[in-house]
Amino acid sequence: MSVQQVDVAIIGAGSAGMAAYRGALAHTASVLVIEAGPYGTTCARVGCMPSKLLVAAADAAFAVEQAAIFGVHAGPVRIDGRRVMQRLHQERDRFVGFVSDAIDHWPAEHRLVGQARFIGPHTLQVQSADGQTTRVEAGRIVIATGSRPHLPPQWRAALGDRLIVNDDVFAWQDLPASVAVAGAGALALELAQALHRLGVRVRLYGRSARIGPLTDPGLQALTRRLIGADLPMQLDAGELQVRRDGDEVIVRTGQGPQADEQRFDCLLAATGRTPNLQSLDLAASGLPLDAKGVPLFNRQTGQIGDSAVFIAGDVDHALEVLHEAADEGRIAGDNAGRFPDIRTHPRRAPMSVVFCHPQIMMAGQSHGQLLAAGTAFAVGEVSFEDQGRSRVMAVNQGCLRVYGEQGTGRLLGAEMIGPAAEHLAHLLAWSVQRGDSVQQMLDSPFYHPVIEEGLRTALRQLQHALHLGPPPVARSLDCGPGG
Ligand SMILES: Cc1cc2nc3c(=O)[nH]c(=O)nc-3n(C[C@H](O)[C@H](O)[C@H](O)COP(=O)(O)OP(=O)(O)OC[C@H]3O[C@@H](n4cnc5c(N)ncnc54)[C@H](O)[C@@H]3O)c2cc1C
Repeated sequence: MSVQQVDVAIIGAGSAGMAAYRGALAHTASVLVIEAGPYGTTCARVGCMPSKLLVAAADAAFAVEQAAIFGVHAGPVRIDGRRVMQRLHQERDRFVGFVSDAIDHWPAEHRLVGQARFIGPHTLQVQSADGQTTRVEAGRIVIATGSRPHLPPQWRAALGDRLIVNDDVFAWQDLPASVAVAGAGALALELAQALHRLGVRVRLYGRSARIGPLTDPGLQALTRRLIGADLPMQLDAGELQVRRDGDEVIVRTGQGPQADEQRFDCLLAATGRTPNLQSLDLAASGLPLDAKGVPLFNRQTGQIGDSAVFIAGDVDHALEVLHEAADEGRIAGDNAGRFPDIRTHPRRAPMSVVFCHPQIMMAGQSHGQLLAAGTAFAVGEVSFEDQGRSRVMAVNQGCLRVYGEQGTGRLLGAEMIGPAAEHLAHLLAWSVQRGDSVQQMLDSPFYHPVIEEGLRTALRQLQHALHLGPPPVARSLDCGPGG
């Protein structure tokens, strides 16, 4: 066994681990990044980027189908599944290549390949695939081990290789004929709808009536209606009963006369993700853990308890999105590097997007969080059904709801399913972070005709609901039709 002594050891070379590396390097050259799997990050290899490549292909198919609305006829859509996957692989490999290239430029002494586990508060044992063992003694440690799909063990036993996860989808050479998707969260919605639009027979199964992340009850109902109008799905399906018959998967829901059985090529499990903590043997670290075994940490510093161990990215099970993983990596790396002189880092306003159609977004505090905190707030809303630019582009579906604080008139948050949600999410999160009042937002310019005019309508309503402005004029023409 070899022994390496370093100032900072980082476990995991994903987006959080890479950001932690740069953060720590600003303070010390004695940094070691330990990676058990392939380089390239979850985001580029099997996460954000390949999923958005699949969604982009689906959007292209949908646009051709929709073209007839405008009197433009492109003929029947024909999907070349091999070509869809080929482009996905080509572009994905390019993104992965950029990441691997960056890591290739790190000094060799900063990289170690193998699976790390704690054998003491400051000591890791790293086992490589070829049986080499290294003991790493580190002054400070950053845990950035990410997460993996949660798989009910009974499904694996019943279905074998016909139970798949997102990683498997992005390895396909061709599109299958049929897929059952278990789960109704962001990943399930994106993948199920994209595959459906690419001609795969898809059925999405949700355990409860909830679909997607929105917490506003009105928007939940609207999401069910809008997504359900397009995508075959069964919500409130409870526990799925699954079995294998030859090369097929049979999914059964309900009991007695209500029972329903459907056959598919495979079952895609998108039922949430589990932090990669099990392999770390945290018992040997002496770190404080919550009831689920996740280390108790400070969001502003990344520090676990008052230890010299920091945590960042999906593994902390807090905000499983890329920009938060990168931020947390930067914070944890900086503090591990400068330990014990650690610094508090302010966090950004929350923001998340689901790239389904219509898109879903949340910015700032959610409706559910505001209710739970007992905040006095008012709501403004706009439906996009009659919104000018949305109708022009035939994307006039959905609703935006904005939440403002009673008394101060500050924007607190927003939830939406509708057109251009990925862009409105940014405007709204930036305003929440700056502490903008609704009036300040209304004083900003709005071009015409744009989807953002819908936001202005919602803000005017909110201003009135906060008793800070007049009732909005119905079908206001102050900037032409489309407010
Ligand atoms: C299908 C999908 C789509 C997504 N789409 C989006 C999106 O559109 N927008 C968005 O913001 N986010 C999206 N995400 C989430 C985003 O990808 C993650 O938040 C982000 O990649 C997490 O980065 P990370 O560094 O925490 O984990 P990772 O990138 O997974 O890095 C963790 C690393 O740790 C290594 N590791 C684990 N255990 C050990 C060990 N014991 N020893 C050594 N190494 C170890 C792993 O091999 C891995 O390389 C998506 C995720 C998925 C799965």
